[in-house]
Amino acid sequence: MTTVLDQIVSKTGKRERERLAALEQLDVMDGPRDQGFDRFVRLIKEIYGIKIGIVSLIDAHRQWYQACDGLPFGEVPRDGSFCKHVVLAEEAIIVPDTTLDPRFSDHPAVTGDLHIRFYAGMPIKTKAGHVIGTLCAIHTEPRTFDDRDTDILRELAGAAMDRIELLQTASTDSLTEALTRRAFKAEADQMVTLARRHAHALSCIVLDIDHFKSINDTYGHAAGDIVLKAVSATCKSTLRATDLFGRFGGEEFVVVLPYVDMEGAMATAERLRKALATQTVDIGGKSISVTASFGVAARSLTGKDIETLLAQADAAMYRAKQEGRNQCRSWSTLRKEAGKATKGTRKRVLRTGFILFDERRSLVDCSVKSLGADSAGLVVSDAFGLPEEFLLQIPADGIETMCRVIAHDGQNLEVMFQ
Ligand code: GH3
Ligand code: MG
Ligand code: MG
Repeated sequence: MTTVLDQIVSKTGKRERERLAALEQLDVMDGPRDQGFDRFVRLIKEIYGIKIGIVSLIDAHRQWYQACDGLPFGEVPRDGSFCKHVVLAEEAIIVPDTTLDPRFSDHPAVTGDLHIRFYAGMPIKTKAGHVIGTLCAIHTEPRTFDDRDTDILRELAGAAMDRIELLQTASTDSLTEALTRRAFKAEADQMVTLARRHAHALSCIVLDIDHFKSINDTYGHAAGDIVLKAVSATCKSTLRATDLFGRFGGEEFVVVLPYVDMEGAMATAERLRKALATQTVDIGGKSISVTASFGVAARSLTGKDIETLLAQADAAMYRAKQEGRNQCRSWSTLRKEAGKATKGTRKRVLRTGFILFDERRSLVDCSVKSLGADSAGLVVSDAFGLPEEFLLQIPADGIETMCRVIAHDGQNLEVMFQ
């Protein structure tokens, strides 16, 4: 039996740290869907005449589907994924019949209703050779896969990497016309520098549409896309022309408001909340309404960088989710409640973390998304069942500390070190 320690050692080697650094550098995970990748998965299905095609990215503990056809769009824990073997091997894995392969034969996707019989996973590699994700061809019948099939999948994986790189250069998101993560950050950085130099106020808002998945599930993706466009248009028309508006994830948007303090930002967030909650979106003759949850953070006189502001606004947004959605929360009230002033800055990172509780008998993998001197933002597969206090280990930084959860939603945890 592998011990908790064995598990930790195997997941935190140098190669894995470098791999995560490469993925962090690209900053693509949890981003918006992209039609280019949708085409890849359709192509995989058509070329091979199979049922499932996936383009995925794999962080410390999750396999996240950038595009997927034949399975629900989403993510799975890395530990239970077929593709973890591809990351480890750093080369293609072809399984003509999963029932005959001891690595997969008793996997629930094989023994259960999904009835997976064939699997081909090709690494998506950076130029430096780090495997950041996979391109998969999956089928419900056993199948052979000859050298030519493998070569085509390799070509496609190369093209997927090219597309990831190409997207780095885009400054606006094609669906909503909001700024991309990278463009938003670059501009926001400049705004924060100016605010610091001239000692003027600056604040930021993070908003995430509530129960968006159920809109997709009920009305389909095309309807979801119309809703995203409508939300973006409403936000833009409610905000000032000098405000910076970006799309950070599928249904997550961010705003930087120069010359606006916490009070003003809360008022703006409340205006946005009301504008969204009262609008209806027409999708093919049906009108539906959506709400969003908001988190707000403001620069203090001692200065905060954009990463810190975003992490704090994120934490406040998770609290708004936790408390029932369709509401605005500010970092300053969260901080007061926690009874601790936070020091220093927060950095966006991507590290392997471990949550230990039950006197170290229980271990849950997490990805550390942001890290400061006394707080962190974590992503877990499911926050349900985690205690309010636990021990957090981040081996790459030599951190082992007791934490208290100050905000969470289904998968995101904001913790304060104790
Ligand atoms: P919560 O209130 O907790 O935020 O729940 P939620 O359903 O909004 O959040 P969740 O993160 O579970 O689901 C977000 C969904 O957004 C999942 C994904 O399929 C979908 N999505 C991401 N990008 C796009 C896109 O570009 N178009 C469409 N239609 N859906 C997208
Ligand atoms: Mg949401
Ligand atoms: Mg979201």
